[in-house]
Amino acid sequence: MNTIAFASIQELRTLLDAKKISASELLKLFLERAHKYNPELNAALEIFEHESIMSDYIAGGILDGIPGLIKDNIAQKGRKLTCGSAILENFTAPEDATATALLKKAGALLLGRANMDEFAMGSSNETSAFGPVRNPWDPTRVPGGSSGGSIAAVAAGLVPWALGSETGGSVRQPAAFCGIVGYKPTYGLISRNGLVAYASSLDHIGIATRTVADTAHVLTAINGKDVRDSSSKQIDPIDFTKHLDGKIPSGIKIGVVQNTLQADGMDPQVTNAISHALGDLEKLGARIVPVTLPILDYSAALYFIISRAEAASNLGRFDGIRYGLRSSDAHTLSQVYGKTRNSGFGTEVKTRILVGNYVLSAGHAAAFYEKACAVQQLMRAEFESLFKKVDLLVMPTHPAPAFKFGAFDVDKLQMDLQDYFTCFANLTGIPAISVPCGFSSENLPIGFQLVGPWLGDEQLLKAAHAYQNATDWHKRTPAGY
Ligand code: GLN
Repeated sequence: MNTIAFASIQELRTLLDAKKISASELLKLFLERAHKYNPELNAALEIFEHESIMSDYIAGGILDGIPGLIKDNIAQKGRKLTCGSAILENFTAPEDATATALLKKAGALLLGRANMDEFAMGSSNETSAFGPVRNPWDPTRVPGGSSGGSIAAVAAGLVPWALGSETGGSVRQPAAFCGIVGYKPTYGLISRNGLVAYASSLDHIGIATRTVADTAHVLTAINGKDVRDSSSKQIDPIDFTKHLDGKIPSGIKIGVVQNTLQADGMDPQVTNAISHALGDLEKLGARIVPVTLPILDYSAALYFIISRAEAASNLGRFDGIRYGLRSSDAHTLSQVYGKTRNSGFGTEVKTRILVGNYVLSAGHAAAFYEKACAVQQLMRAEFESLFKKVDLLVMPTHPAPAFKFGAFDVDKLQMDLQDYFTCFANLTGIPAISVPCGFSSENLPIGFQLVGPWLGDEQLLKAAHAYQNATDWHKRTPAGY
């Protein structure tokens, strides 16, 4: 194992501060690794030139000299912004997303653009127009999605951190599949300005790292209110690294969501790994209490309707006129729209636009979209009342380890059910983090989720960090990297 490649941000910081290595040398090392391993992983759609990365370098911040990768639906000024889609293959971002600008201000070195499912629609990274990403633990398996490129890159030690996006679980689910930490903050804690919209009310920027402490570093650099995103929280930036002391408040009450552990299709190896994690949390001083959340049974259906409805509306802007591709054999305005969208979007995206327009159409909106929004309110209320009784929740991130490529080609519904354990957090806006907690008999990573109340991110990270401090699962790295 290459120790620098798998070092934490704090460890790299120590090396940089002691002048054992310069930011430019560190970047060179990570660029070499990215060039070496990306051909087999396809995690990055583009790896930038050393010089052009260094020309953006601002020394002095919390991520000074630390390289990372950005999912290709988050704008980086002057770089391509494809969203994994042919329709934006040649589109260049006119400005930085707020998160990108903050990362640069914090001294981060932005190494490239991460591969992803087309417009963040998918759970396996198989819908990217630029080819799938492979799971570093087993190249015959998916890395998860839609932030598969960001997550595989971190898992294989190509970068210590990456940004992904989360609409229904796209950072947490691949993080569980690849044995790293995947975090989705409270809605609005990180500005969405410059994140290409899929379903705006559910979209979040998320963070992928190998340790919770690293997540806290990246979050500290990019959280806080933003005048360019009216849905961002009107709070001053918080230092999330401050309270990570390896302890969780003694007596903290953690609810185990029983109906998720007993759900159909749960792999017993995952259930076992989570039981062990509960024992570890108890040893750290937590009180574990059983709870049930029957409303979770509706979350995948709610997510299905609301995400498609918003996607149909958001993706209306890709019309062959304003952004990216314009079909060359269109002779009328309606052909420009039709032919561009037909050739530019992949099947998954087109299917979702069709469903979205259907559930929003006159005569159907009341039966589908409005009903889904009403149930979403009930879901929010159910979580709110549960968090009056417990401080945090534990549940699986995913019922099984990473699946093989093509596993759901003939059963699309099963693919859509991949979000069952994760999308509630996007529907309610509450924070959740997936943390490694074991391995299957086939040496595939397993993760579990800690979930906090609205704006309870600090306590959530503190507990997840304490768990990680007491366990070693995150220290295993995939062979060959
Ligand atoms: N798998 C979900 C979907 O396909 C989640 C995607 C996401 O979080 N961006 O929509």
